Amino acid sequence: MLQQSKPPREVIGSYWEANAGQPRLDRQLMGNALFDVAVIGAGYAGLSAALKLAQSGVSVCVLEAEHVGFGASGRNGGFCCLGGTKLDGRQLIRKFGLEEARRFVAYQVAGINLVAQRLEAWGVDADRHSRGEMYLAHRSRDVAALKSEAAFLKENFGMKARLLSKEALGEEGFGGDGFHGGLHVPYGFALNPMTYVLALADQVRKAGGGIFGKSPVTNLTRDGERWHLETMHGYVRAKKVVLAGNGYARENAPKWLYGRTLPVMSSIQVTRPLSDSELSAQGWTSDTMAADTRILLHYFRLLPDRRFLFGTRGGIFDAEPALTKMRKRARSDFETMFPAWADVETEHSWHGNVCMARTLTPFVGAVPGMEGVYAALGWHGSGIAMASISGEKLAGLITGVLKQQDLPAPLQQPLKKFPLPLFRKFYLQGAYWLYGWQDA
Ligand SMILES: Cc1cc2nc3c(=O)[nH]c(=O)nc-3n(C[C@H](O)[C@H](O)[C@H](O)COP(=O)(O)OP(=O)(O)OC[C@H]3O[C@@H](n4cnc5c(N)ncnc54)[C@H](O)[C@@H]3O)c2cc1C
Repeated sequence: MLQQSKPPREVIGSYWEANAGQPRLDRQLMGNALFDVAVIGAGYAGLSAALKLAQSGVSVCVLEAEHVGFGASGRNGGFCCLGGTKLDGRQLIRKFGLEEARRFVAYQVAGINLVAQRLEAWGVDADRHSRGEMYLAHRSRDVAALKSEAAFLKENFGMKARLLSKEALGEEGFGGDGFHGGLHVPYGFALNPMTYVLALADQVRKAGGGIFGKSPVTNLTRDGERWHLETMHGYVRAKKVVLAGNGYARENAPKWLYGRTLPVMSSIQVTRPLSDSELSAQGWTSDTMAADTRILLHYFRLLPDRRFLFGTRGGIFDAEPALTKMRKRARSDFETMFPAWADVETEHSWHGNVCMARTLTPFVGAVPGMEGVYAALGWHGSGIAMASISGEKLAGLITGVLKQQDLPAPLQQPLKKFPLPLFRKFYLQGAYWLYGWQDA
């Protein structure tokens, strides 16, 4: 029996909630239900898989622990950009060969194009802006690295990236003493991420897919030919299952997930709108999305309503004293990098989990040893484009129109367990110390 219910809503405190509208309350799963495919997680990946499946005539439902966009898809910085791995281009070529690295980069570009096409086809105004992304050298010695990256991108991937001197940056509206040069990569755009995920969910509903909110999957067992997914007040029996919980995945559903993902916190602050004089005082007037060259990078952009969005890594622990410290550190970084705005108030501040994998690449495919179970996760902090296209490709694997080899090799490595998974957060703390020292 499927019933309508009105569970309380989780408030994240993001600017997107205030600006893109509250997610709709989908009914909770009550009783039992039968579907061909059950998807766990209503973010870009799960919803993209569900959309393609529903459009292909497959009966599909999405089981979401909270509500559409509760995970990173409703909390991110809105940079629809290249990325999805922590391996750089040179490492990708060394590990997978030039052809596979090229296929992987082309896949990232296709992901960006897919999001753009969707917004256009659905007639969704998601506050798009920015042509490509600017990488800013935070030390003078990083300028040479940007130069070498420009040559590398051109030679290996045919990408035309443009180098900018410190003076040119100032002229193009990227003002600030802390930036010594820039590399503009002309791929990607910025959007309101919540508007996009809500529109995606609407398309799933229109195509006939079911979405259940407040329905965390707590257990996954095999029941004859079908998988049995247990939720708080019911269960779903499905021939196939998609794991799309990413940085919010519950590690016991299924147990295979235990120790195979590393959720990492990222945090964002958004200021009040800036006046003309405040913008010119800092010399920052560009609406191009930008990031610095730190390993523990900062990412930032001027929003269409002239607020400034500033993101950086989060802390390790989710308890209030640690979160307060994290917000203070992020605010202090913002004031250091944009001193003319030191008195501009932060009006929104929130955080969320990205998902890392031990392979440092995402995984999109069939879960080994669990017939009929598929996974799409591990976007390493860049999932708008990557999770969107990967959800769609995963649907192709499920319906049989695609084979695993049709995906670029970096996506084909199943998630490996981290050694001593209980200590993952401590590894992360160690990595932050090391990277902080390397970034200095
Ligand atoms: C602060 C922040 C900034 C970011 N900025 C950017 C950016 O600018 N550009 C970019 O490309 N990427 C960015 N990312 C990353 C990007 O948001 C994610 O990679 C992407 O949203 C992941 O989508 P997803 O569908 O895989 O997972 P999510 O959107 O995280 O969705 C997973 C969902 O699964 C649900 N779930 C998990 N387990 C269960 C269960 N057992 N039962 C039911 N439901 C379950 C969760 O509740 C959650 O809603 C950012 C992330 C964060 C946190």
